[in-house]
Amino acid sequence: MIQRILVTGGAGFLGSHLCERLVEQGHDVICLDNFFTSQKSNVVHLLSKPNFELIRHDVTLPIHLEVDQIYNLACPAAPGHYQYNPIKTIKTSVMGSINLLGMAKRCGAKVLQASTSEVYGDPEVHPQTEDYRGSVNPIGIRACYDEGKRVAETIFMDYHRANKVDIRIVRIFNTYGPRMHPYDGRVVSNFIRQTLAGEDLTIFGDGSQTRSFCYRDDLVNAIIAMMNNEDGFIGPVNIGNPDEFTIRQLAEKVIELCGKNNKLVTRPLPSDDPTRRRPDITLAKEKLGWQPKVKLDEGLQHTIDWFKSIDLTDYRPPTP
Ligand code: NAD
Ligand code: UDP
Repeated sequence: MIQRILVTGGAGFLGSHLCERLVEQGHDVICLDNFFTSQKSNVVHLLSKPNFELIRHDVTLPIHLEVDQIYNLACPAAPGHYQYNPIKTIKTSVMGSINLLGMAKRCGAKVLQASTSEVYGDPEVHPQTEDYRGSVNPIGIRACYDEGKRVAETIFMDYHRANKVDIRIVRIFNTYGPRMHPYDGRVVSNFIRQTLAGEDLTIFGDGSQTRSFCYRDDLVNAIIAMMNNEDGFIGPVNIGNPDEFTIRQLAEKVIELCGKNNKLVTRPLPSDDPTRRRPDITLAKEKLGWQPKVKLDEGLQHTIDWFKSIDLTDYRPPTP
């Protein structure tokens, strides 16, 4: 059935792909964004579609819309972006959640929260299962994002328990792909941009820390499946690719796939940088019948091809 769907943060990296998919499926899609970490070029190709609208708005302020589903993706996601104005980051997670849950309650909409593996902080449990409560430094430089997302999960659960709002919570692990902001400072974008420019690749710390990288198409499949599951499963559920790599391995892979010979240089490890991260996706497999299909080499190749195709001068650096 055709739904009226609001995607907050819809002009961003993941949001723009989600909007594209929902428009293709024939839904009536409203993309809402304040363009803090994105630009209209991500969705300009959708503007001519009769089932797509774009609204410039900030989720920290209330808005009245009539919709059936809400995907709440509005929040800066890269460390350099969310640390630029940490108080605004917390407001976006907390006030944004309250405003959207209020809207969902009023119009009886389902609402999905894009939470994050960062709720586990620097994890003592490996791989991370959903019942692990995490190890976050509440006063550190990542807390504006991690704790903001943790509070958002709390607010979602309380609106569900107190007001019967139909919610979904997905905990997204590192996701990459075309339309990542080339200057977002994340490791995949940095390494590809540096490799193509013939620069040294910047390894923070000794490069032994690990991450598990999920390709954007797999992620979009999972969150749509989560929104539409009708078995009463609200999550939280881990969404990510369990193939785990050290940051040094990732650097070597990017250089190899680009057919280059760049050098690696080390830089200080930022504080509170998690030492390892890998999702346990048993729950997603069981409840959603979902698992990632795209291997890192294939996803990186698509991403490298996209980076080769863009004009970097069209993008603003990470401090907007
Ligand atoms: P992104 O920065 O490309 O997208 C976020 C979008 O939200 C941007 O378009 C930005 O302009 C918008 N935004 C930020 N603050 C806003 C506000 N106050 N009001 C309205 N719009 C606002 O990042 P992304 O990687 O596409 O992440 C999307 C969501 O997924 C985020 O909520 C993020 O926390 C979550 N997530 C992403 C990853 C990942 O690896 N990409 C991992 C975990 C969680
Ligand atoms: N990182 C790195 N070089 C870079 C950017 C990031 O070594 O140029 C490291 C970073 O310290 C972290 C990992 O790569 O250990 C992933 O960083 P990213 O910012 O992509 O994501 P997050 O830390 O939020 O998982």
